Amino acid sequence: MKKCKYCQSEIDSKAKICPYCKKKQGPKIVKWIIIGIIVIGIIGAVLSKKEEENFKKEYSQNDIVTYKNVKYSIVKVEKTKGSNQYFQAKEGYEYVKVTIKIENNSDEKISYNALNFQMVNGDGAEASTYTITAEEDIQLHSGDLDAGGKVEGVIIWEEKQGDTGLKLRYYNNALIDKNYTFQWTLNN
Ligand SMILES: [Zn+2]
Repeated sequence: MKKCKYCQSEIDSKAKICPYCKKKQGPKIVKWIIIGIIVIGIIGAVLSKKEEENFKKEYSQNDIVTYKNVKYSIVKVEKTKGSNQYFQAKEGYEYVKVTIKIENNSDEKISYNALNFQMVNGDGAEASTYTITAEEDIQLHSGDLDAGGKVEGVIIWEEKQGDTGLKLRYYNNALIDKNYTFQWTLNN
């Protein structure tokens, strides 16, 4: 004997339908709802992983990249030997000044950090920002952006003069991610 799941009457332990209330003695609906939620969760995780994998990683300098509803763009790239004794590239090198714009089109606050941008040169060597900037430049630091907020700033790297293989990489999480999220190939 067992108890009917619905009316609690004593019924035969093998009964599939309760003779009193006529209800099916299958697993309770709650169980199915929980299973349903888990299945939907798994499907959601698989789809978002797929979306991540399908995200285009390669761009050219003029492309505006939208990643997680945040727009990243290169406003301009300038190359200079420097302008004064404190801002002077070493022999055979030049400064590559990149003005980057970040626009938060998502509906939540985001954080940005200049260290998420790394430049890779024609030899395949990657480096984070070169810290000194000319006085007139507005440096891109780190901070938060409200929903709808935007910021623009300069990051400077020192690279071999005339390097035609420069690429600017963005890491969504520079501390954890081994592979870049996307990269721009700079114009020559
Ligand atoms: Zn019953």
